[in-house]
Amino acid sequence: MNDRIADLWGPGTPHAKGTVWPARVDQHLDEGVDEGDVDRWVQSACVLCSNGCGCDIAVKDGRMVGVRGRAGDVVNHGRLGPKGLYGSTPWASSTDRLTRPMIREGGRLVETDWETAMGRVVEVSKRLLDDKGPLSHGFYTSGQLFVEEYYTLAVIGKAGLGTPHMDGNTRLCTATAAAAFKESFGADGQPGSYTDIEHADAIFLYGHNMAETQTVLWARILDRTRGQDPPRIVCVDPRRTPVAEEAERTGGVHLAPRVGTNLALMNGLTRELFVNDWVDRSWVDAHTIGVEDLQSIVEPYTPEEVERLSGVPADDLRRAARIFGECDAVLSTVLQGFYQSHQATASSVAVNNLHLLRGLIGRPGAGVLQMNGQPTAQNNRECGADGDLTGFRNWDNSAHVQELAQLWNVDPLTIPHWAPPTHAMQIFSYAEHGSIGLLWISATNPAVSLPETARIRKILGGDQCFVVVQDLFLTETAQLADVVLPAAGWGEKTGTFTNVNRTVHLSEQAVQPPGDAKSDLEILLMYAEAMGFTDKDGDPLITWRTPEETFDAWRQATRGRPVDYTGLTYDKLRGPTGIPWPVNDAAPDGTDRLYADAVFPTDTDVCETYGHDLLTGGTVSEQEHRAKAPGGRAFLKGAGYKPAHEMPSEEFPLLYTTGRTVYQFHTRTKTARSRSLRDAAPEPWVELSGEDAAGLGITEGDVVRVESPRGAIEVKARVGSVMPGAVFAPFHYGTWDLDSVTVDGLTGQANELTMTVWDPVSKQPYFKTAACRVVKVRDGDGPSKAPTTAASRPVDRRVPSTEGGEPTTSTILDETPRYPLDPAQTSVRAAAKEDR
Ligand code: SF4
Repeated sequence: MNDRIADLWGPGTPHAKGTVWPARVDQHLDEGVDEGDVDRWVQSACVLCSNGCGCDIAVKDGRMVGVRGRAGDVVNHGRLGPKGLYGSTPWASSTDRLTRPMIREGGRLVETDWETAMGRVVEVSKRLLDDKGPLSHGFYTSGQLFVEEYYTLAVIGKAGLGTPHMDGNTRLCTATAAAAFKESFGADGQPGSYTDIEHADAIFLYGHNMAETQTVLWARILDRTRGQDPPRIVCVDPRRTPVAEEAERTGGVHLAPRVGTNLALMNGLTRELFVNDWVDRSWVDAHTIGVEDLQSIVEPYTPEEVERLSGVPADDLRRAARIFGECDAVLSTVLQGFYQSHQATASSVAVNNLHLLRGLIGRPGAGVLQMNGQPTAQNNRECGADGDLTGFRNWDNSAHVQELAQLWNVDPLTIPHWAPPTHAMQIFSYAEHGSIGLLWISATNPAVSLPETARIRKILGGDQCFVVVQDLFLTETAQLADVVLPAAGWGEKTGTFTNVNRTVHLSEQAVQPPGDAKSDLEILLMYAEAMGFTDKDGDPLITWRTPEETFDAWRQATRGRPVDYTGLTYDKLRGPTGIPWPVNDAAPDGTDRLYADAVFPTDTDVCETYGHDLLTGGTVSEQEHRAKAPGGRAFLKGAGYKPAHEMPSEEFPLLYTTGRTVYQFHTRTKTARSRSLRDAAPEPWVELSGEDAAGLGITEGDVVRVESPRGAIEVKARVGSVMPGAVFAPFHYGTWDLDSVTVDGLTGQANELTMTVWDPVSKQPYFKTAACRVVKVRDGDGPSKAPTTAASRPVDRRVPSTEGGEPTTSTILDETPRYPLDPAQTSVRAAAKEDR
């Protein structure tokens, strides 16, 4: 029996380069439930991070009572991490689930029936449409819904109402990943594969504390770094994370740029490739466009200049560049440390550039994983319930709009395409001023997760906008709504979703939702029917009723696009593993990695965007794009480094940065309802370096106030491994269960301090660059309750270790089950056979 709170990654299964990752099946059942007690196991995949681990849900007496990993799944080979094991099911039977709709009466939310609640939504919706037209409607959704729900919402919004105001909280976590793909390769879609880990000679992790954010993927890397012929790790992170420690252990490098200087560092790395002639000139000439411009942009960024700008020692930069320049198989992964930081898209595109300059793409071990943060963020981008057009189409390309108009049988003018889709920050601004009069929020908690939350609470609680919230619980956001709709969650409904490396999983309904709760699909269909949306011929716009019918409709929307689902069916997804798209006649078993032929979807008639200037966000026109005649070549693009919007000052001398901890997910809607996860990280904290803490007279566990020009929080201090000059705060903590730690009228909600600014290209808000000051409020009554197991570990080793997870089992299998793969993977299979 294992305590997976104490042991984050579980028992190791080291293996050699080029061999198959061994299978290990992890399992957790509720206390008192034995395997023999389980009535049935229901196929699904975990939704507590973007990794998408295949799993089965244990059902007993109509309740979800545990999970186990699926050994044959390409994603996880049976493993599950602490969140998946402990957090997947307890929330479902929590006594505070929403079970009935609610409406606001006399300032209070009161329970009602569906007819009344939906009637009120429809009445407001119709009135606003009559008075103000479709621009009065905004939708803010999630990275948690299923394909079927996003697609239905996209059709309602784009073809039923005709509003461009649709976005998801994917804007906060993954918009830059999509933007970086579009700028470099012409369309969204992860080029790399998790199987690249098995082949890589070096793995670069940029702003990606994978050890905490995707624990199973990190276990996969550890099984390489602890095995024969290990890869070297290079870590770019201002904190000394477990990834940074592994970088040093493997002879790699930990680069710790000052917060907000990622692009200076990336420009320095890129320059090193040119200076040392590590550029594959013939590949670049054949398959890319823009190399001369890029070379001149990065020319000023000598290692010494990068050291001056970022604090990264010049020789460390040279060492990291040499590893990249001399390895034939490099995998790069990128996450929020880049996406939520200053010059986000330019920095993330720079990662793509490095790979393109060396031709390290589309073959085993050579790939890019611009990660997502959430389990179904990819689907929101694919379906177009966010700021994208359905099926990776280009809103600025009238032929693409026409394709959708034909598919949905509506006038093309109904589909908003006269300007870029509205991004989340702008949607909230419109709601603030009342031009959006109905804001429908599903499966997300912006009162905690958006920047400058005092402002967001005011927007949601004001009379200028009617707010509908659809969720599992009465979240901080739902408490401010005019109508609250109780939703069914994972395991309580059927649908599909797609993880970071394009792998599609089917998640079957295991149990009934509580009370009157309905699936998000049912709720959207109910609204569509009540609104009477019709097509050009007066027939119902939405013709599907069941999840499977919806999936079949979605497949048709992907035909001929890079995100091709046409070869997938529910039956096919009931096999042993999820399947990575594209899946079609040419690739019936799916596609392990993209761009093996070095042909990119950049053609002007195909691409998802004509692109942007990475410095200013200025758009490239169709004519300009056509004049470049990319014709399947990837773009090399760059931008110069500029200082962040808010730099440290005398008044606010420290840099404030937010992030995640391994035990919690987002605003803890699910993870805080698991005893093991809640106890492992029960309340907020801030991390200071030993040097800054000493200078401020702060010791471990003291209560401190952190202030920025926008607000203040009071929490306990962890004296830890963050770099001097920086302050780290986990963003998970709102107020719904934490009254006891709300001190002096202040909470520990990290986003009270963050800024309403965003990247010019991806429109992703910056959570990692703001100025702050820290003052001690009083002595603590013991150490902070921050975890000790990963990046938040204390300097003071006397702080008790984080442990106490409920028992789990891990079984290492002799044989890893086979699954269909693309031809590149056959070499792995052959190598594995030889090994035995
Ligand atoms: S790594 Fe992510 S998807 Fe996998 S079990 Fe953990 S939380 Fe779930």
